[in-house]
Amino acid sequence: MLAGLWRTLLPRACPGCGAQLGAEVGLCRACRAGLHARVESHSPLRPHPEPHLLTLGRYRGVGRRAVRALKFGGARDLAGVLGQALAAGVPPDWDVGAVVPVPLHPSRQRQRGYNQAELLAREVARHLQIPCVDALSRTRATRQQARQHAAGRYEMAGAFAVKTGRLPSGPLLLVDDVMTSGSTLQACQDVLHAAGAAEIYIAVIAR
Ligand SMILES: [Zn+2]
Repeated sequence: MLAGLWRTLLPRACPGCGAQLGAEVGLCRACRAGLHARVESHSPLRPHPEPHLLTLGRYRGVGRRAVRALKFGGARDLAGVLGQALAAGVPPDWDVGAVVPVPLHPSRQRQRGYNQAELLAREVARHLQIPCVDALSRTRATRQQARQHAAGRYEMAGAFAVKTGRLPSGPLLLVDDVMTSGSTLQACQDVLHAAGAAEIYIAVIAR
């Protein structure tokens, strides 16, 4: 609470470029103007070599600093501006019916106090005016490293489950902060498909 008070009273720096923030929330105007969601020409995930992946760009520069501030710096207000930018890029013909966040393991969520993917997913859903459904659970913790290397695919398989009765109908938009090797998103996508999800699209801040 005290930290929250300081954040509102002290001059704040833009997490993207370091410029002093005025009335802006999350990012300064210049960094905000540089955020453009785009559909990647191909996805590394099975079974979708065709465009199913929406990102705000590569994991560098403003995107990287914003992700780190959202994830490790407690800058929860960044989810608003980043979620809005992602939502603006969702192609209408994807016809997404619900947004699903990639869950954190409960122990990590307790440590951090929030799940950054869930904050983002809620903002994306709010802008698209569709439900955000907490349909996935994390059944076991995985090493940070497992998510960064292709070999982690074996470790990630079985790390997620679909909550009983929580699978929304229609195409889904799976949301996470970053895609590295893709093993986390692949594992989530696999359990959603196995549970009967129609079509799964993916949105991440950076890849
Ligand atoms: Zn900035």
